[in-house]
Order: sequence, then C-alpha cells, then structure tokens
Amino acid sequence: MAKNFQAKDRRDIKHLDRGNPYFEYRKYPEPTECKNCGLVFVDGRWAVKTISKGIANKEICPACRIIKDKIPFGICVLEGNFLKDEKNKSEIINIIKNIEKNVREKRPLQRIMEIKEEDGKLEITTTYDHLARRIGESIYKAYKGELVLKYQEGERFARVYWKRD
Ligand SMILES: [Zn+2]
Repeated sequence: MAKNFQAKDRRDIKHLDRGNPYFEYRKYPEPTECKNCGLVFVDGRWAVKTISKGIANKEICPACRIIKDKIPFGICVLEGNFLKDEKNKSEIINIIKNIEKNVREKRPLQRIMEIKEEDGKLEITTTYDHLARRIGESIYKAYKGELVLKYQEGERFARVYWKRD
C-alpha cells in the first residue's frame, strides 16, 4: 500500500531537531508576522492576532513552510467500497474540512495540505501528525470500518489508514 504514496516521507528529511525550520517552539522576535498567512508570533506561539501597529519582523510560519515544501507530517488514507458512494464521500470530505476548521481555531499551525482523490481513495496530507490522527479517529468513530494508526511517539509523523467496504 505504501508504494502508492506520492508525498515524500517526513523521515527522508535529515534536518530534524536542531536547525529544523519547522520547529514550532523556535523563538522569533515578538511580534513576528507570517508574511504568507498573517499569523502573529506572540507570547511564544503563533496565533491569530490583530496588532494595531505595523509589524516590522516578517517570517514564514512553520505551517506555511511545511505547505510550501510539500512535505507532510501526517498522512491519512481512506479507502474501500464505502467511498464509491458519492454521497458518503462528500459527507466524509465535509467532516474532514470541519475537523480542520475546528482544530485551527485553537491550533492554527495544524492544517490540511491537500485532499487528493486517486483510484477511489482519499489521501489527506497534514502539517501535523495529530491532525491526521484526529481525522482517522473521527471517521472511524462516525462510520466504523477498520482503522490502523502508524505512529511513533517522538517521531512527529503519523500514517493513518482507514478502510470500509
Ligand atoms: Zn503562515
């Protein structure tokens, strides 16, 4: 199944830990504004904020950088005959979009990168491992089927498979 993945594996990337541009808790001068999505780094984290005065320091936030580099931290693959029904499929896509919307309110760096449809499967790539997990778990909770999580603590990369025939 793994050979079907088009997204590059996070583990192929050597520069984890030190010097990792994705590292969420890196210190930026405060405030710093993401020149791509407008999030602001204040109080040690990226958040949706309106700062009345102009922000001189501009950077690209970790989420935008991950999206730009097209290297996800989470992959969720959904498959099976259940998805061949267009109604089921669009319902599932709506659920996925709502999950992202809700998560982003509190954790704006957790984003869906792409929802790709191929050979009757849906492949969802995410900027954070937790979001891929959450999507898989929510679909499983709503529709049953089979769920496999491949996730190692400390690795910050999750592969999630869900199937229902
Ligand atoms: Zn950004």
